[in-house]
Amino acid sequence: MNGRRRVGVMGGTFDPVHHGHLVAGSEVAHIFALDEVIFVPTGEPYQKSGRDISSAEDRYLMTVIATASNPRFSVSRVDIDRPGPTYTIDTLRDLADANGPGTDLYFITGADALANILTWHDVDALFGLAHFIGCTRPGHRLTGQGLPDGKVSLVEIPALAISSSECRHRVAAGEPVWYLVPDGVVQYIAKRGLYQRAGQNNKNHE
Ligand code: ATP
Ligand code: MG
Repeated sequence: MNGRRRVGVMGGTFDPVHHGHLVAGSEVAHIFALDEVIFVPTGEPYQKSGRDISSAEDRYLMTVIATASNPRFSVSRVDIDRPGPTYTIDTLRDLADANGPGTDLYFITGADALANILTWHDVDALFGLAHFIGCTRPGHRLTGQGLPDGKVSLVEIPALAISSSECRHRVAAGEPVWYLVPDGVVQYIAKRGLYQRAGQNNKNHE
């Protein structure tokens, strides 16, 4: 190692954060010898405007609860404190500034998001700010097609067929989410009454 800090950045809506997210962060941290993984809940996710999203504070607090026991995991407010929709370029610029020049950033994203990577704006600037890691998840195939060499790695995550939408559906249907999300998140969802109204939370998944 060259003494530079290696920091993973895991962006997501985290509505709610679940064990798939946590396993992905843990696995990538292991494979890439990361010193830290920063979970970054999005502000207003412009791609998910088809449904009502839980407040940024609820999503932030669930992410804090879920990551609290892991000394290498932390949570950043950069996206939820920045007004307007979240763009990855802003996330990476803010975190690069906050962490200083001795840090290399590794942006961790799902294979689903990676497939759209070239449609994100300012792709060259993005690749200048971070190395990109695309994680598989059940139902998504790994493909590096069209992605620039050396800037993107693809990693297979132990299959956990969990998604936030499935968790929201289950809560709305009165089904348990124990062991799909961390215990404290189960209790936070109940305490705050999140995801109770199916129509409100699952508009674009029916
Ligand atoms: P939704 O069902 O609402 O789309 P989600 O489960 O995909 O939610 P996000 O907050 O959108 O959760 O995910 C953040 C990132 O984590 C995305 O890049 C996504 O691909 C990745 N991810 C989500 N679930 C898993 C999983 N089970 N295994 C590996 N990566 C995952
Ligand atoms: Mg998703």
